[in-house]
Amino acid sequence: MSSRSAHGEGACTASRRYRGGVRIDLHAHSRVSDGTETPTELVAAAVEARLDVLAITDHDSTSGWDEAADAARRLGLTLVPGMEVSCRTPEGISVHVLSYLQDPAHAGLLEEITKAKDARLSRAEHMVSLLAEDYPLSWDDVTRHLAPGATVGRPHIADALVAAGVVDDRAEAFATILSSRARYFVQHYAPEPALAVELVRAAGGVPVFAHPVASARGRTVGESVYREMIDAGLAGLEVFHRDNPEDRRPFLTHLASEAGLFVTGSSDYHGAGKPNRLGENVTTPEAFGEIERQGRGTAVVRP
Ligand code: AMP
Ligand code: FE
Ligand code: FE
Ligand code: ZN
Repeated sequence: MSSRSAHGEGACTASRRYRGGVRIDLHAHSRVSDGTETPTELVAAAVEARLDVLAITDHDSTSGWDEAADAARRLGLTLVPGMEVSCRTPEGISVHVLSYLQDPAHAGLLEEITKAKDARLSRAEHMVSLLAEDYPLSWDDVTRHLAPGATVGRPHIADALVAAGVVDDRAEAFATILSSRARYFVQHYAPEPALAVELVRAAGGVPVFAHPVASARGRTVGESVYREMIDAGLAGLEVFHRDNPEDRRPFLTHLASEAGLFVTGSSDYHGAGKPNRLGENVTTPEAFGEIERQGRGTAVVRP
């Protein structure tokens, strides 16, 4: 399968720009959160997609790091240990902060992601109890699809709905009964974005604002939230991502150059859970170098 198929124009540009050079994708999920592959399978898929560097960035969890690192050493891939922190503004807007090379044992950051993970579990149970009033769905159906210790999210409820024949795929579930506008939707605790940025830095990590203008997912934040995140130590913006509309990207690149942030491009691969393909967007070696230079909590894993 071509890694240059099935993506937007910006993604094409980013891929073409680095063709023949080092291919770096810094946003991907495994079964430790809502990807569909084990960390080992994810690393193998990255090799198959001819990537040189991959970051594993499961939601609110680092428990895939060791397995991914073993696979990366074995298969000859450079691995950046990372994570995607779920956040929410006081107005209720969802924000995702990517963290690279943080100390996974840092108490302050660990406490926040543990709180969010626990809240995700009760929230998922609550959503399933609401859905069960109208659809053939039980909590058991959801946990059956879950890897042990995985960060539970709506994608896992979607998988159970697919198995029950209620929807055809995750995308249909998100477009209908799992949408944030649906009556079955329940929120969960998540830290404010600036707090997450501060904690990632405190843990020696490098914080990057993930898909900042992904309007199809819901409301996106205004400039004041960017300012708060920048003041808290934000390092970069994920500009090249299929969910960032083309016409909003100049705003991001302008803000990045004005505030001294680097920009990244990545796939946000979820295995079979999303159409996003590994390497459909890539990050420059310069931005990757900056991440490695700033990261103090964990080292990049080289084969
Ligand atoms: P949650 O964090 O539990 O509210 O669920 C949001 C997660 O669902 C995000 O991490 C996305 O990766 C995933 N997601 C959002 N929209 C879709 C979609 N249309 N198809 C598959 N996965 C999605
Ligand atoms: Fe996800
Ligand atoms: Fe995200
Ligand atoms: Zn993601």
